[in-house]
Amino acid sequence: MLGSTMPTTLESLKARLADIDALHNAVGVMDWDQQCYMPQGGGEARAEHVSRLSRMSHDLTVSDETLRLADEARPESDEDAALLRIVRRDLEKATKIPSSLVEEKSRLSSLAHEQWVRARKADDFASFAPTLERLFEIAREEARHLGYTDHPYDALTDLYEEGATKNGWDAMFDTIRQPLVELVARIKESGVEPDRSFLHGDWDKGAQMEFTTMLAKAVGFDFDRGRQDTAPHPFCTNFSVGDVRLTTRFLDELTSAIFGTLHEAGHGMYEQGSPMEWDRTPLSGGVSLGVHESQSRTWENIVGRSRAFWQRYLPDLKRAFPALPDVDLDTFIKAVNRVEPSLIRVEADEVTYNLHIMVRYEAECDLLTEAVRVRDLPEYWNEKYRQYLGIVPPDNRDGCLQDVHWSGGMVGYFPTYSMGNILSYQFWGRLTADLGDPFDLIAHGDFAPILGWLREHIYRHGSYFTPEELIKRVTGEGLNAKPYLDGITAKYEGLYGLRQTVAS
Ligand code: ZN
Repeated sequence: MLGSTMPTTLESLKARLADIDALHNAVGVMDWDQQCYMPQGGGEARAEHVSRLSRMSHDLTVSDETLRLADEARPESDEDAALLRIVRRDLEKATKIPSSLVEEKSRLSSLAHEQWVRARKADDFASFAPTLERLFEIAREEARHLGYTDHPYDALTDLYEEGATKNGWDAMFDTIRQPLVELVARIKESGVEPDRSFLHGDWDKGAQMEFTTMLAKAVGFDFDRGRQDTAPHPFCTNFSVGDVRLTTRFLDELTSAIFGTLHEAGHGMYEQGSPMEWDRTPLSGGVSLGVHESQSRTWENIVGRSRAFWQRYLPDLKRAFPALPDVDLDTFIKAVNRVEPSLIRVEADEVTYNLHIMVRYEAECDLLTEAVRVRDLPEYWNEKYRQYLGIVPPDNRDGCLQDVHWSGGMVGYFPTYSMGNILSYQFWGRLTADLGDPFDLIAHGDFAPILGWLREHIYRHGSYFTPEELIKRVTGEGLNAKPYLDGITAKYEGLYGLRQTVAS
């Protein structure tokens, strides 16, 4: 028995990655449980368990042995090469930031989260400002350690979207800013205000769970490899390709849970579409936040808010909720696509959504470079809302205190939402070119060809390619906002009876 059982360096590395993956998923299950089921009394112990497991996973990740294995491992296949690329990139980033800073950030952000919740509740920005100040100082330090050529934002945003830069985001927003502001203005000038009051009510929660589950199943979310529960802030998480968890919530607007479920199911189907043989390795799962969001938005907006979708499902909805007035398809479609400048990002419609993102993007860039001081953020924020959306928040609760991201030290994350919106239309254009009219399929509830196309071109590649490579492979070009702008302009010109500017 000479040497035949001696693992190669690559095998040792993979075994180590499997250990890290196990710790990571233990934390994942605990997080999921905390948000869905844990009694209040479990909070303190859970925080302790999670922070210890996170530290063990971090220590194992940046240990000398892991670094040595990643350094010395030699790929035996293209998949190994892709795996090594991901691992080395992650390790390079993880080791650049001193552990003292990692520790301070994790301590401060768990504290900051509590402070933020309190400050938002009391509409008291001043009490949160010093912590926010420190979080942005930490972001500046992180950027310095990670390194950048042009702008500190580049170092941070690359953590969320590989290859992204401030220049790239600027170009993206410059392309969509004016057309969106103009489209919102044209919609407002039309004076058309679709009625959506009929969606409000005290809807039965059991019936909502049943209906949203039916829809998730219909579009192709596999309940043998996933489930749906409720959580105050809906999300999707997974612990393996065979175990993907959706969450939804039931508000007094009937369609809120429906579009929430379709959104999370989009994330979930992407995760379920990774190859089984890559499970529990860094090759598995969605490649980036932007590409992930493109999938949730595809199922939520392009499919879920389409006329074809409700042509198929409005009769079912009426049967499931007998208190729903007998509105026609036209009225229903206009209601669920109503455009309305509002204060809250997460409730924003498809047209105004990116304007909310722009406010945050510009704010975090300016806070990072200290072009604006934290104490001046409320005025800065309100002025941007006036400029882009024509409304001014009456308080900071529904103004600059509304998002969780900065309290968690996440700077550079927001633009990926807009990238997802843009990319969803770009991918959809390719899908349409290959499949013919996908809305004809949707009207018949036949989603398999659509899901099949997305699996074939996007999901099955997991994280094998970089986001840039994947986008190029699928669309033949880089990120391009034209399909998105043309798509929503044509859609809303139709819905609001505006003069047409896009030849269809
Ligand atoms: Zn999402």
